[in-house]
Amino acid sequence: MWRDEALCYNQSVKFVIGNWKMNPSSFAEAKRIITVVKKNIGKHPHARLRGQAKVVICPPALFLASLVELTKNTAIAVGGQDSYLSDEGAHTGETSPSALRRLGAACVILGHSERRAIGESDTVIAQKVASAVRNRLRVVLCVGERVRDDAGAYFTEVKRELRASLEKFPRSEIKRLVVAYEPVWAIGAKAIRAAKPEDFREMSVFIRRNLVDCFGKKSGLVIPILYGGSADERNAEGFLREGGADGFLVGRASLDPQKFSAIIRVAESARY
Ligand code: PEP
Repeated sequence: MWRDEALCYNQSVKFVIGNWKMNPSSFAEAKRIITVVKKNIGKHPHARLRGQAKVVICPPALFLASLVELTKNTAIAVGGQDSYLSDEGAHTGETSPSALRRLGAACVILGHSERRAIGESDTVIAQKVASAVRNRLRVVLCVGERVRDDAGAYFTEVKRELRASLEKFPRSEIKRLVVAYEPVWAIGAKAIRAAKPEDFREMSVFIRRNLVDCFGKKSGLVIPILYGGSADERNAEGFLREGGADGFLVGRASLDPQKFSAIIRVAESARY
């Protein structure tokens, strides 16, 4: 499992991370999805080249332990959707980053727009990031503007989210950082419009510049930047090829094992 590999990021390797959110509603369905994905990616002609895509499923916390078991000795890793800012302790309803790591989670998504929308501040996210890294989890940090305005204020919004959330990120642990650019206007069934590869490219250059500014050239240039927001099997290639994405954070399409497997195939089969 890639959790235990040297954390060196090789830019020809793409990440395909499924965020199941609060779905599915039964463990039986979770098991069905995983079983189909396992079968599909095993059959892929590029399976012997496994390692070109790092595949992660982030299920609801309720299913984490069982999914870790179900994916043992496969190319699929399991991650959390959130973790708390303290390592452990008296925090009702929260998920401990130290327990996540011990359970076998590879990474944790932090700063997702759906959590920001219920009041999670950059300050809290920065603390969560620090505690996840302290517990040797890879952090998938989500940033993204709510709307695009003609004056370009959305760049300021993304810059603020990125810099504030990474304030406590130790440069020595940079290999544990993945950034997911998720424009809120392109996420979910109620998306205002589909994002285009050029929307991603423009913003990923901006994010990259900020990362270099924060962490220096050597570190800033190797942090993977993923695209998220209605990514599916039809638009994936465009984001990789024209957008230069290092992979995807996938919402709805990750709950459809055929679509998710197709995205993995796109990420694995071609060289971008
Ligand atoms: C998300 O919310 O992180 C997401 C990418 O969702 P979707 O793919 O369904 O737009």
